[in-house]
Amino acid sequence: MTTPLFVGLDVGGTSMKAGVVDDSGKPLGSISVATEAHRGQAFGIERMCEAIRKAATAAGVSMGDIAAIGVATPGTMDIPAGLILDPPNLKPWRNVPVRDHIHNVFQIPTAFQNDANAAAFGEFWAGAGKDAHSMVLFTLGTGVGGGIIIGDLVLEGEHSHGAELGHMKIEMTNPRQCGCGRWGCLEAYGSATAVVKRATETLAQEGVNSTLTTLQIAAGGLTARHVFEAASAGDPIADKIVEDTAYYLAIGAVNMMHTIDPDMVVFAGGMVAAGESFLQRIRKHVKELAFPVPAERTRINYAQLGSDAGFIGAAACGRKLFREKKQKG
Ligand SMILES: [Zn+2]
Repeated sequence: MTTPLFVGLDVGGTSMKAGVVDDSGKPLGSISVATEAHRGQAFGIERMCEAIRKAATAAGVSMGDIAAIGVATPGTMDIPAGLILDPPNLKPWRNVPVRDHIHNVFQIPTAFQNDANAAAFGEFWAGAGKDAHSMVLFTLGTGVGGGIIIGDLVLEGEHSHGAELGHMKIEMTNPRQCGCGRWGCLEAYGSATAVVKRATETLAQEGVNSTLTTLQIAAGGLTARHVFEAASAGDPIADKIVEDTAYYLAIGAVNMMHTIDPDMVVFAGGMVAAGESFLQRIRKHVKELAFPVPAERTRINYAQLGSDAGFIGAAACGRKLFREKKQKG
């Protein structure tokens, strides 16, 4: 008997990635195409179907071999209804019935999920959380994304706004403004963008002497990587920014530990390149801030799947739906 195969599609603002995944979460082939959201939603949906077909071709299988499809997109969305509502990253798409349309085209079970939730489910199924019972994922990039997995449950929330971990409040005294327009969110402190912003502000202060100033001038602006590299090279200003970032992320992790007491907290995204020393700093602050038992036992690690987590997790959602349908007969 052959094992079932699944296609996962992860739609992002600039590109979408699709891949075929086997029943153990192993990718058999994947492709990436430009999203071109500006060309409108009819084009977008056709592009999604094309990405799904191309993924099958890349994996050397036909669509007839695929048991189910999972599609992950950025919010805002109505997950149970299979609808994209009004996503800032996919303008001008509005009220697009993605799930039903793709289901109508391929006629196999089709699941729909938020992209950050899907990435968390991917890491849980086939990556860092493979042997975990429950897991919280923080994705660190331009913003801070989040996902919560408990057993086989992807925590979507009642209004498809669950696990917006980047927007938990961590500072309400002189709070920084977040990308969401609100104040004091974790994203305004712990994202790669926030690292650059805090570094740039510090360098603008009078009398600050840092190797970052030279980098800033030479590169025409700083990146989070500059800050982490300067910290590793012993620059005290950069080191303070990295240390503060680890502290803010530890606050986020501890808030989640005191809410759901997960088996594992995982950090994903570009800042993972900062390496083991950054993770050690986060772990140190978690130990100081959390209740003793979770402080001791909760595993805090980096993600393992990189940018494949989204499509692998979307495929996992398709697989879950397939299995539920099969059980019901
Ligand atoms: Zn926010």
